[in-house]
Amino acid sequence: MSARQTFGLAVGALYTLTMKRMKSGGGWRAIRYTLKKGREVGLWNMWRAMRTRNACKTCALGMGGQKGGMVNEAGHFPEVCKKSLQAMAADMQGAIKDSFWSTYSTAQLKAFSPLDLETCGRLVHPVVLEPGSDYYKVISWEDAFRRITGKLLGIPADESFWYFSGRSSNEAGFLLQLFARLYGTNNVNNCSYYCHQASGVGLQSAVGTGTATLQLEDVEHADCVFVIGGNPASNHPRLMTTLKNVRRRGGDVIVINPVIETGLVNFRVPSDPWSLLFGTKIATLYVQPHIGGDLALLTGIAKRIDEMGAADERFLNEHCDGYEQWIAALRAISWAEIHAKSGVSQRDIDAIAEKYAAAKNVVFSWTMGITHHAHGVENVQAICNLAFQRGMVGRPNAGLMPIRGHSNVQGIGSMGVTPKLKDVVFERLQNHFQVQLPTTVGLDTLACMDGAREGRLKFGFCLGGNLYGSNPDANYAAESIAELDQIVYLNTTLNTGHAHGLAKETIILPVLARDEEPQATTQESMFNYVRLSDGGPRRHEGPRSEVDVIASIAAGVLGGRTPIDWQSMQDTGRIREAIAKVVPGFEQLAGIEKTKKEFQIGGRTFHTAKFPTPSGRGQLHVHTLPELRGEGEQLRLMTVRSEGQFNTVVYEEEDIYRGQDRRDVILMHPDDVSRLGFKENQRVTVVSQTGQMKNILVRPFSEIRAGNVLMYYPEANVLVPRDIDPASRTPAFKNIAVTIHADTPSRLTLVPIAGG
Ligand code: SF4
Repeated sequence: MSARQTFGLAVGALYTLTMKRMKSGGGWRAIRYTLKKGREVGLWNMWRAMRTRNACKTCALGMGGQKGGMVNEAGHFPEVCKKSLQAMAADMQGAIKDSFWSTYSTAQLKAFSPLDLETCGRLVHPVVLEPGSDYYKVISWEDAFRRITGKLLGIPADESFWYFSGRSSNEAGFLLQLFARLYGTNNVNNCSYYCHQASGVGLQSAVGTGTATLQLEDVEHADCVFVIGGNPASNHPRLMTTLKNVRRRGGDVIVINPVIETGLVNFRVPSDPWSLLFGTKIATLYVQPHIGGDLALLTGIAKRIDEMGAADERFLNEHCDGYEQWIAALRAISWAEIHAKSGVSQRDIDAIAEKYAAAKNVVFSWTMGITHHAHGVENVQAICNLAFQRGMVGRPNAGLMPIRGHSNVQGIGSMGVTPKLKDVVFERLQNHFQVQLPTTVGLDTLACMDGAREGRLKFGFCLGGNLYGSNPDANYAAESIAELDQIVYLNTTLNTGHAHGLAKETIILPVLARDEEPQATTQESMFNYVRLSDGGPRRHEGPRSEVDVIASIAAGVLGGRTPIDWQSMQDTGRIREAIAKVVPGFEQLAGIEKTKKEFQIGGRTFHTAKFPTPSGRGQLHVHTLPELRGEGEQLRLMTVRSEGQFNTVVYEEEDIYRGQDRRDVILMHPDDVSRLGFKENQRVTVVSQTGQMKNILVRPFSEIRAGNVLMYYPEANVLVPRDIDPASRTPAFKNIAVTIHADTPSRLTLVPIAGG
């Protein structure tokens, strides 16, 4: 061990002794953090920035818009959280200086952590990394456009792919997918293929729509909310106000998660004096299945409801297809199989079923602990089955609620950013613009990485996000991107993709943040609510608006070859007129800049049991329960975000709720630590079928179920295989079989599975 490592270990151990795990989420610490972030950029500046009429830049819960910043869809103020402040503070950074690019080589940038890169400052000039060079160099916008249009004009369209992040506006998303298709390819996809695609596919198969079936108002009247496979206390903090309200009304919050997350046990809502002072108990029941045990557990709850005679037979018969087959399969599954494959006792399953049976208005929410599995769609279908069983979908104050990540990830999907357009959108696009769209089969995100690796794709265009950082099998992702002739990134700040996701030629284009846009843009929340963002003054000279960049490149590539005046498409009002005509449910978008009327998208809220499936009825699905992963010597690993992180963006190294001061750690149950002969802070190598991570510190963590371990995403993506859910093609970021080896060359520790 080097002197540096020894020193790091000593400091790490000392810090661990001094870093206390929090007993509740939110609270004074959140308020202190708010003030600290505010002071970094000036309290008044931060206040003004947060109050502008723009949709929150971070999660899809959605705040802000025309009601003003920090206001939720129910009009409640102040709704603000650490995530939104972190994103705002990042956008309020100073500019990266020109000298930065000649100072740091790509080898040096590769050594930067995600946090180091994020805090380098705002991107303000286009830069290029040319073939054979080790340094990015600043170029003009004209030069950047010339390089990009030159490449696009020189290759067949199907050798390109177009990746979209959920942070871009509806207008930018719509315009870019239109450009890509008229350029000639359907290789159009978005970040949701690595997060909630399984929710969309699962919901579509069960209720005929891919989004939440309810509105925020419905959740505010529920008397029981399931929170499955997620940690909204860290990732969607303002949802905690809603959960607090459920508890205060005497309702139940049932949390299903292999890890006990502090904020889901007790949360101090800063905007509620009583909760702030005394804390609010969030989970009524907290049940810990093994990683990958959700489908068995959900099936077990349904089986118990059936045994209790608590099912709504009338609803199942009148409003669902497949009831007889489903109930027969449910009754045929043995309890022994359910216990073995979920890791949950009969007592816990009974307790959940009793709460569910007693509740009148139930909401089922879930996040990536459900979708990041090789059976992600089946997990979602099992949640739908459970909701159908008691008639908890297709009525007010109840329903299905996938908790989405990025602030406009749902809107990007609505805008047609998928390889295959819905038939109605395809027809309307052709008619509205008088164009012919390609009918070739488009590639999803992972298929694009495969295409690049195999040399079939030559060009990638990334509208925001971090394509490299969000991929499973990080080494494969880097190798795939390296095969491309050119990749173009549109971003506001640096990320690991700019250091590791390098093509033969890599171009970074700096763009404006949402609240700096010169024109209004729109976003869609996870409750299907469309917000209007005013934009605002730019903070730096240099970055351009996303629609400006897209329209300029489209004009250079397609000018004169299509009936569309691409330069005129820089006008976001014009784009909205087209969206209103093309995308069902968005009719009110056309005049929104004048009316200022934000709206609920038509046809997506189900307050009656009439579903947009071919039969108009809900669809029950039968499943075979998967075996728990991990054989003999393996543990089940799930990759997670920390408290100071949003998706691939890391704002803080520490994870205060889990009591961790750093990210190069593996969190293991103390029983596993001692049984395997490890010690706290011992360095180990974690090995999966895909890769390995050395120099990882063992951290005892009693909040995780024995037999399961946690590591931080995106760093641990190097361990994540490219195993996908066949129905949604979502990779299994949450269920990876690993072995752990002591970092002593002569000693190999084989790890038996525990608690299985
Ligand atoms: S919970 Fe989500 S939408 Fe609300 S303020 Fe925080 S990041 Fe923004």
